[in-house]
Amino acid sequence: MKMQTVADKITMLHKSLPDNVSLVAVSKKKSAAEIIEVAEAGQLDFGENYVQELCEKIQILPKTLRWHAIGHLQTNKVKDIVPFVHLIHGIDSLRLLHEVNKQAKKVNRIIPCLLQVHIAKEETKFGFLTEEVKIFLGSEEEKEYQNVALCGLMGMASQTDDQIKIGQEFAELKSLFDWSKKGKKNFSVLSMGMSSDYKIAIDEGSTLVRIGSLIFGARV
Ligand SMILES: *Cc1c(COP(=O)(O)O)cnc(C)c1O
Repeated sequence: MKMQTVADKITMLHKSLPDNVSLVAVSKKKSAAEIIEVAEAGQLDFGENYVQELCEKIQILPKTLRWHAIGHLQTNKVKDIVPFVHLIHGIDSLRLLHEVNKQAKKVNRIIPCLLQVHIAKEETKFGFLTEEVKIFLGSEEEKEYQNVALCGLMGMASQTDDQIKIGQEFAELKSLFDWSKKGKKNFSVLSMGMSSDYKIAIDEGSTLVRIGSLIFGARV
């Protein structure tokens, strides 16, 4: 059997995703050459977890690519990515949001951001609790952040083979997303689903999946 190329994989993924679901190719730990191969197959959006790695990559990669900060982001690294980042998925505290707003102001940008919600029941993952999101959205405090555009939510399900449990966690996030969207015009991104669970996430209403190993192969 002929080996599947990266281009084949991207093409198949693009075809299989519903029209309203976008794809971020997660390229952490992958080389610039591998990213170019994926980009040439028609993929524009890439996700990275580590700021230093991201800053090195953007130096050498085409300026047309769009960069998503997807993992936990350290406050002291924010200033390095604000000049170019396309969307920050991992806003997991008001302290971090405050810093993004402050740094964005300095470079005169309004940066699209997602609030990360803690939906996994077993593990400790970063993120806001559902109740905290409900209290924050629409509050007076939210209005003070003039240089961030809150445009959706992000979440990661438990790492388990229990598909029902994963589905329930994604459903909980979708329900918070629907609640949040009421009265917020530009709230349109629900970032959930990775290589192992993206199909469940799409069934539960995801609008953006972050897929790494399925495209690039396993990370070492
Ligand atoms: C690494 C990572 C992904 C991609 O994981 P894969 O299992 O390789 O698809 C998605 N989202 C976040 C936040 C990640 O850290």
